[in-house]
Amino acid sequence: MDIQTNYRPTEAIINLQAIKQNVASLRQHLQKNVQIIAVVKANAYGHGDVEVAAAAIEAGATMLAVATPDEAVHMRAHFPEIDILILGATPPNFIPYAAKENITLTVFSTDWIKYAASYLPQAQPVKLHIKVDSGMGRIGVTSKEELIPLYQMITDSPHFIVDGIFTHFATADEEDSLYFDNQVSLFKELLAALPSKPRLVHVANTATALVKDISLQYDAVRFGISMYGLLPSSYVGEILPFPIQPAFSLQTELVHVKPLQAGQSVGYGATFTAQEDIYVGTIPIGYADGMLRKLGGQEVLVGGERAKIIGRICMDQSMILLPKAYNIGEPVVLIGRQGQEEITLDDWANKLETINYEVPCVITARVPRKYQ
Ligand SMILES: *Cc1c(COP(=O)(O)O)cnc(C)c1O
Repeated sequence: MDIQTNYRPTEAIINLQAIKQNVASLRQHLQKNVQIIAVVKANAYGHGDVEVAAAAIEAGATMLAVATPDEAVHMRAHFPEIDILILGATPPNFIPYAAKENITLTVFSTDWIKYAASYLPQAQPVKLHIKVDSGMGRIGVTSKEELIPLYQMITDSPHFIVDGIFTHFATADEEDSLYFDNQVSLFKELLAALPSKPRLVHVANTATALVKDISLQYDAVRFGISMYGLLPSSYVGEILPFPIQPAFSLQTELVHVKPLQAGQSVGYGATFTAQEDIYVGTIPIGYADGMLRKLGGQEVLVGGERAKIIGRICMDQSMILLPKAYNIGEPVVLIGRQGQEEITLDDWANKLETINYEVPCVITARVPRKYQ
């Protein structure tokens, strides 16, 4: 028997047309022959990795980037042909799978190559991209003294291929470019020290690809946040070369509506008390869905109007102040458009005192993603 899940009306709607359009617009903006690596780590920033990857590939992406080996396995199960790069550190015990299934790994230490001796691939060699840490202070080689022995060790081995080299910028989305320029110089110096240029040199994240010098597009750009229609920063928004369209919306329905008399309270701690007679609606979404308690007071959209979340957000339910007695089943938009009004992921990010990247990532798996 098929088990139907998702009886609850709470769902995230992902607009795949928007994702395709965002990738296609980037395609127009890039130099000829620059490839698009679609960054679909963390379940495509919470949007759903399989569907987003398919949309991105259809719109011209030629490679997928994920963060972990498990994400790569998941992608490979759905996309047998496409190149997949794991951006993070991969334990050497993944090498046999990587060789068999053509997964490209990130490497940044000679120790890793040494440990790899116990897991050498039987089949074809494993493709590696060398990570340069030019200023992020996380994984990566930081000098020629580290880079060259690593490069030699890989090229000396029949089991590995240097397929690429890359770095990642800490401040590409900021107006002040001093730190960025220093990172670029260090990367260029290390690249120039290699005996030959690997097939794929890539340094650009979204912000770099959109607003920095076109020479930094190199052979490929790693397109993340703006593929989802979100801005890396407000600065990038000011000088964006093409419009982008957000793909994520979040909606539910009223499951209960009741009048509340002046003096009655709402929610744990009874933190909200009606000052006059009001209507209060219950919506079936709470912090276990990723609508964190800090979003108390945030507005939602009902009947094309703004309504406030009142009282404390519960684990599975929340209460909103209604301007009138709506019917059960009335649609409620938490993120997205309704009529003339819009609530954005950035509105949530501001309320949560965080960045838009984090918001869809923390909408939990309990919220089904629907595609349109
Ligand atoms: C996540 C990530 C990206 C994508 O960054 P955006 O700002 O979302 O474009 C690119 N490169 C690396 C190494 C990353 O970890």
